[in-house]
Amino acid sequence: MWKRVYQTYHRTNFHGTQSVDWACMCLSSPIPGQKQAPAVGHCNGSCSLDRNGNRSSTSVPNGGELKHRTHATDATQNLIKDEENLGYKEENAVYKENALEQQKLLQEQDQKLKDAEQEEEEEYKPQIRWPDLGAQAFLHIGALYGLYQLFYANFYTFLWVVVTVWVSGIGITAGAHRLWSHKSYTASLPLRILLAFAFSIAGQRDAYTWALDHRIHHKFSETDADPHNAKRGFFFAHVGWLFLTPHPKVVAKRKVIDMSDLEADAVCMFQRKYYIPLFALCSIILPVAVPWYFWNEDLWMSFWINFNMRFTWTLNVAFFVNSVAHMYGNKPYDRNLMSTEAPIVSLLAMGEGWHNYHHVFPWDYKTGEFGNYSLNITTGFIDFCAWLGLAKGRKSVSPDMVLRRARKCGDGTRFLDDEFAHKDQVWGFGDKDIPREDIVELAKMQN
Ligand SMILES: [Zn+2]
Ligand SMILES: [Zn+2]
Repeated sequence: MWKRVYQTYHRTNFHGTQSVDWACMCLSSPIPGQKQAPAVGHCNGSCSLDRNGNRSSTSVPNGGELKHRTHATDATQNLIKDEENLGYKEENAVYKENALEQQKLLQEQDQKLKDAEQEEEEEYKPQIRWPDLGAQAFLHIGALYGLYQLFYANFYTFLWVVVTVWVSGIGITAGAHRLWSHKSYTASLPLRILLAFAFSIAGQRDAYTWALDHRIHHKFSETDADPHNAKRGFFFAHVGWLFLTPHPKVVAKRKVIDMSDLEADAVCMFQRKYYIPLFALCSIILPVAVPWYFWNEDLWMSFWINFNMRFTWTLNVAFFVNSVAHMYGNKPYDRNLMSTEAPIVSLLAMGEGWHNYHHVFPWDYKTGEFGNYSLNITTGFIDFCAWLGLAKGRKSVSPDMVLRRARKCGDGTRFLDDEFAHKDQVWGFGDKDIPREDIVELAKMQN
């Protein structure tokens, strides 16, 4: 209250000066430290007016008819009160005005944003591509029938499924992904031919097209330009994106991503050019005919098992990286991304589930921080090829780089060697590992 009066005084320039302070006010206001205000007529003597209310020689430069506050009339005091109230009202009015203006501005911005979004939505209405939906339905329904047939199949047929899944898997992970999409190492001609062949067994389009979409996915993750934008939901990220018309931004980005390195790769371009016959030969005829020719597996049975079931299995494992590993799990390296660390996906996808790390350091040929081959078979394969002299120039990330990024952006789950880590965990009060400073503080807190 008193402070309030002082402020009003200051503003209304009662003393005719802007440098008025508590000590020179002499209005019945308390001097800081005093509970009571000085009695009227008892100036503390430090103001620029003398005890009779006359201006001293060193007083107010502006001149004018001044009155000592202690001799102020009731009318003046009422004026102060009025001004005080007026001040409040003025301030409130200004505040309200500002708030209203700001609110109006925010509403306008919101409306503009909504209009823009609506325009974009009106522009882009995803359409179902029926042939692609039909292909997915055929693959998945046929895969279920193939799974049923597997119970009656020769045991060698089962082993053949495992072999083809692994070989085609390496074609995806070590080939289309780590080599052609990310250039995380360089491969000799024989290795590239082997990887192109393995990738053709997988049947997931040609490596050039796969790498193009994957580069866009990394460059524009979780935006409209991301071909399997996880923000559009699990189903879309998993499979929906393959039978819906792409967002115009995806189409636009496909034209601008630099693919010159792959255009200069003869193996990659050969696989692209002859993709359809290669698909027929490597993804259908070879997997289906081998069991029939070598151990007399029923051809009908072999088709549903070795084409539909095998194909759909690798397809869904790859889909898990786009759906599960973009939705569930920790984010030790960058919490701002949607991609996560998903060990189960790593197990199934031969090391591709360390996806938070991979999106932060996409050039690392390991696609994960730790060199544990058990959940990263692909890294073991590339290291083996390097040992054979078929692969070289493996790019990686220094521990310092990882640590810096994890500290800066991580969600705190990569705590093992963080200096702020809760390293020495304790079971409760009485554990001898309780830190010394905690013990001292605890002792003080005890009653
Ligand atoms: Zn990638
Ligand atoms: Zn991703």
